Amino acid sequence: MPMTPPLDPFKADCARCQGLCCAAPGHRQDDGFPVDKPADRACRNLDPETFRCRAFETLEREGFTTCRGYECFGAGPQVARWLPAAWPTLPEAEVVRRFDDFRRLSRLRCLVAHMAGRAELAEHPLHLALTDVVTEYDRTGRLAPAPSINARLAAYPDLTREMIRAVGYGGRA
Ligand code: SF4
Repeated sequence: MPMTPPLDPFKADCARCQGLCCAAPGHRQDDGFPVDKPADRACRNLDPETFRCRAFETLEREGFTTCRGYECFGAGPQVARWLPAAWPTLPEAEVVRRFDDFRRLSRLRCLVAHMAGRAELAEHPLHLALTDVVTEYDRTGRLAPAPSINARLAAYPDLTREMIRAVGYGGRA
């Protein structure tokens, strides 16, 4: 059963997550990491029991220059609500599915949050429809277009296509 939502749903809340940002995305050396890490694999520094970073005090010195400033825009807690147990104990197919949710939701929520912060975009119907995509995940645990939301997104085909391509919504990242 999902926990109650976090207080600020568009901010990271690591206490309500399971280190998803340290496992789901792939890391590349030219993106502020000292080593490459494939997607769907835990970082070598992630404690698999506490889901805390074992190198947090020395990140920059060890070459992890991206981690401290990373913001998931609340995707981690939102996805973690649908994990029935610690992800290392779950079947791989379920873990991979939720990791994929995290990658797509974090980008989608970044887009929604930035639109919310721009006066000319905040009330745009596309922003409202994308917000509903995020909200629907809370209800269903699925990041799939509901017909009613699809119809609203379809009113802006070019813009929607570009945005959806940018965030990977509707396909695997
Ligand atoms: S170094 Fe720490 S914060 Fe960065 S990805 Fe690894 S576990 Fe996460």
